[in-house]
Amino acid sequence: MLEDLEPKIVWKYFEEICKIPRCSKHEEKIAEYIMEVAKQHGLEVEKDDVGNVIARKKANGYDNAPMVTLQCHMDMVCEKNKDVEHDFSKDPIQPYVDGEWVKAKGTTLGADNGIGLAMCLALMEIKDAKHGPLEFLFTVDEETGLTGAFGLKKEFIKGKLLINLDSEDLA
Ligand SMILES: [Zn+2]
Repeated sequence: MLEDLEPKIVWKYFEEICKIPRCSKHEEKIAEYIMEVAKQHGLEVEKDDVGNVIARKKANGYDNAPMVTLQCHMDMVCEKNKDVEHDFSKDPIQPYVDGEWVKAKGTTLGADNGIGLAMCLALMEIKDAKHGPLEFLFTVDEETGLTGAFGLKKEFIKGKLLINLDSEDLA
């Protein structure tokens, strides 16, 4: 479906997370998946009391650079068209390409913040990029109360700079 889109590795993960339920306040499955991918690629990973996940990747080539935190949120807005049968707790989102857009059949797509998630997952996997130490912060419940961000403890984040990947503006 999305295999012709570039960068391929980002869209591979985007398609993968479309299959995983992640409505606000129900992030257990997506958190599990992220932790699995992190472990698979040798990152250290932990989860805090409110369900936020953090993973850290060692520097590659820029060992003395300050740690950069890339932030995104795991949850999405779950809405569907009235004429569609869809159970967000188990049915996959069905993405498709329509001209210049990626859309979903009958439901919200979850590109907010699915594309941020997909980029982080891709970065966790990529081996040949040169970078300083990276930290990936995946928060819960951005869309319905920001409880993930509010519940976040300062000690949980080690990064010196934070880039939020949840934005509607592309500069
Ligand atoms: Zn968002």
